[in-house]
Amino acid sequence: MFFGIIASLGSQSFGQLVANEEDWTELPRSIHPGDSAVPPSDAVVLFDGKDLSEWQTIDGKEAGWLVKNELLEIVPGSGSIYSKQKFGDVQLHVEWMIPEKDVENGNSGIYLQGRYEVQIYNSYRDASKIYYNGQTGSLYKQYKPLVNASRPRGTWDTFDIIFTAPRFEDDGSLKTPAIFTVFHNGILIQYNSRLKGITTHEKTTAYESHGLKQPLMIQDHGDRVLFRNIWIREL
Ligand code: MG
Repeated sequence: MFFGIIASLGSQSFGQLVANEEDWTELPRSIHPGDSAVPPSDAVVLFDGKDLSEWQTIDGKEAGWLVKNELLEIVPGSGSIYSKQKFGDVQLHVEWMIPEKDVENGNSGIYLQGRYEVQIYNSYRDASKIYYNGQTGSLYKQYKPLVNASRPRGTWDTFDIIFTAPRFEDDGSLKTPAIFTVFHNGILIQYNSRLKGITTHEKTTAYESHGLKQPLMIQDHGDRVLFRNIWIREL
């Protein structure tokens, strides 16, 4: 096959030759990949249905959300919750559901490093009621999702997020931006999206320099949204 490809390329010119050797230096670690109910064996489990021990309020107090029937539920007005552990570049899995009977919009969001939001909003069918870069799966007010892969209220949605943390120069200026790739219910909705700054409702945004590792945040936007099975892998 290999020789066939070369031959078929005929007289095409090639670039500079680079190393293409067998790698026997370090065998990749074996992990158990898990399944829909079990996180991968090397993941940090942030919520497994039992308690809020991995979470706190912004000022380090006990998180005020409800754990019931192995689910995590926003208590509107109790404040956003922050992971006690801090993370840089990660793969994140989270499952969420907007309750069927609520009149609210199911507004919440997953904030990587407490600053960069993947939006959660009731976007099944009536997504056009909100600006398109404010619907579910948007990187709020910066990038709308490639498609709307939302499920109806009362059913579970998943986000699988691959996040590259921004880097900053010593003088605080931006070196490389935050980059998101996001799957919503298994469908690619953000592909290498490079954020322009922190998530904000304002008409302009910018970066503010910070350390490489920061807590994950889940937003209390005043609506009751449910969560389960939250895990994260540092890359
Ligand atoms: Mg939100």
